[in-house]
Amino acid sequence: MTFNTILSFTGACLCLALAVLVFLRDRHSLVHRTFVAGMMALALESGFAGLSFQALFFEQVIFWQRTKIFSTALLPGIWLLFSMSFGRGENKELIHKWKGFIIASFILPLLFISFFNKTLFKGAPVAHQISSWILPLGWPGYILFLFLLITTIIIIMNLERTLRTSIGHMRWQIKFMVFGLGSIFAVRIYTYSQTLLFRSLDTGFDMLHSGVLVIAGILMIRSLSRLKLLNLNVYFSHSFLYSSLTVLMVGIYLLVVGLLAKLIAYFDWVESVHLKGFLIFIAFLGLSILLLSDRFRHRIRRFIAVHMKRPQYDYRREWIRFTEKTATITDARNLCMTVARMFSDILEVLSVTVWLFDELHARLRPVGSTVSSEVGAGHRISDEGAARLFQTMRDQEMPVDLDDPKIPWAYDLKQSMPDYFQEARIRYCAPLSAGGNLLGVVTLGERVGYKTFSFEEFDLLKTIADQTAASLLNLKLSEDLRKAKEMEAFQTMSTFVVHDLKNLASTLSLTVQNLPIHFNNPDFRNDASRIIDQSVAKINNMCSHLSTLSKNIELKKIETSLNELIHASFSCLNGSIKGSFVQNLQPVPKIKIDPEQIQKVLTNLILNANEAIGNGGEIRLATEKRDGWVVLSVSDNGCGMSKEFMDRSLFQPFKTTKKQGMGIGLFQSKMIIEAHQGKIEVESEEGRGSTFRVYLPLAGK
Ligand code: ADP
Repeated sequence: MTFNTILSFTGACLCLALAVLVFLRDRHSLVHRTFVAGMMALALESGFAGLSFQALFFEQVIFWQRTKIFSTALLPGIWLLFSMSFGRGENKELIHKWKGFIIASFILPLLFISFFNKTLFKGAPVAHQISSWILPLGWPGYILFLFLLITTIIIIMNLERTLRTSIGHMRWQIKFMVFGLGSIFAVRIYTYSQTLLFRSLDTGFDMLHSGVLVIAGILMIRSLSRLKLLNLNVYFSHSFLYSSLTVLMVGIYLLVVGLLAKLIAYFDWVESVHLKGFLIFIAFLGLSILLLSDRFRHRIRRFIAVHMKRPQYDYRREWIRFTEKTATITDARNLCMTVARMFSDILEVLSVTVWLFDELHARLRPVGSTVSSEVGAGHRISDEGAARLFQTMRDQEMPVDLDDPKIPWAYDLKQSMPDYFQEARIRYCAPLSAGGNLLGVVTLGERVGYKTFSFEEFDLLKTIADQTAASLLNLKLSEDLRKAKEMEAFQTMSTFVVHDLKNLASTLSLTVQNLPIHFNNPDFRNDASRIIDQSVAKINNMCSHLSTLSKNIELKKIETSLNELIHASFSCLNGSIKGSFVQNLQPVPKIKIDPEQIQKVLTNLILNANEAIGNGGEIRLATEKRDGWVVLSVSDNGCGMSKEFMDRSLFQPFKTTKKQGMGIGLFQSKMIIEAHQGKIEVESEEGRGSTFRVYLPLAGK
């Protein structure tokens, strides 16, 4: 048995197997019946071709070829009917419209062959290469092949139409079926056109047909593993009508065939014309698979969208809008709510929910949603679904379409809990990850008009989701920082309070212990009462200082002369000042301040300066008017402060370098000054002294 024969019989067997497989799945619908019939016809054709290859004499060849052509004549009608019903839910309307043509394509070839059987081929066949004969065509043969060519093109156009209008899962299912059938017929465009061109049938083409049949059979088996039944319904869109790939491909084909024929003849590359045809077929199949591959199209469209097309969204505008809306938001709930609304608005999706991961309960919690004002989406849906969603989104970078059959895990996830996703109205899901952590997810429902997202929209979705995640992370970090600071302040305060209370307690307990022993000693009684007095004063002092930390300062502002206030404060302190005191008070206008509070600041600064200087040091006090401010400065030539202390601890509560200090004075002073809309500045150098400048606004500033 020759290779040709084996190939032909393999093709025939594959077709038979496919016919049986589809027949067993369903034998009642038109699409299944036509497929089975079509496959049987192809099997017969290939089988007869195999027998023809085995023939040794040309009479036998002619006999088998004449028999074979009967099965070829069955192909147009059957496959035309199939191509009109496949993927179209047995489109009765279309079939009805084409009724005449379909009937003609059934009857005409058969009639032709029956009537003109003798004149289909004319003259003696010519042996051409090994086991290949050239049979010159008579005019009926010519018309028959012309008819076959036309119906073949129509069949391919129909198949293409089905494929191009199918989307998503459906497309994924039918793609290889269409490729398989498409290649069977596409190669016939080549062979029929060659037959017409040379007005003779080359039996070597049968080998090409059988070879393609084997490849097509494999493609169709692959498709049948995805597709259980052939009678599914593709919803047609109108846009595709404007361009037909078939027409384009036939055009390219004719061009390429012409060119290749010239090239091959010139260089004498490939001996066998059939092998040449087969190579062209493989190249075309590859090209069309590539052209119709979703991933390839995705890349091309992305490339075009990024580099050539006018962007659908004005990113700059959307960016500004996003930052404007979210800049002042300081809590996660508000941010999520705003972001959900923005997504809904920009991408035209009615239900958008932003879910955050709740670390405490280890689950997703809906925080902002457009589904109902009361972030309602999540109340109705199970934790399990949310947990699985979160689990599966962990490793995702890009937003996913959960209905996309090309992302099996997403598709499976949605299919595994259809009710859950239905109720939660989830179709798309974008991760909110920042700093390598998944903080939550954004889920979007079906779009208005059920349009799927374009790349640009996926890109935009990702950009906004990333930005949201970054803002959320920021909020979370500043919240953590605030809590840490609060904790730190609380700890410092409690250490400080505990330390002082312990001192007081030990002094008092000593007194209490000695009380029964020395009670009758009047000196002891005086001492004891003094200690108790001091302790009470200290506790009161502590309380009053600490209370300034928690209270907002209430100012009672009146027109005050700062210089007079300085005189008054100074006269109170005069006795306790160690060093010399220099005043340089320039006349400054009266300002509206709370004199009692400002006096506290003043006293504080003077006492600090006094503690900083040694004996013989100097304290200078000055006032002046500068650029709408009244400036009061207190300088000393004392110990000064380290830069590090100024940077990290100055004006912070409980930060003190003194044994008996509380570290509250400057903190409180700053609060008072700021309550007056003023500011305080410090200049200091270790070992040389410090200057504190208080700026208070002039009236009307
Ligand atoms: P306290 O005086 O109770 O320590 P303050 O808040 O008034 O609390 O001062 C905080 C710290 O700032 C002081 O412990 C001291 O180290 C530093 N400081 C304040 N004023 C001066 C100054 N004039 N010279 C040097 N260090 C100063």
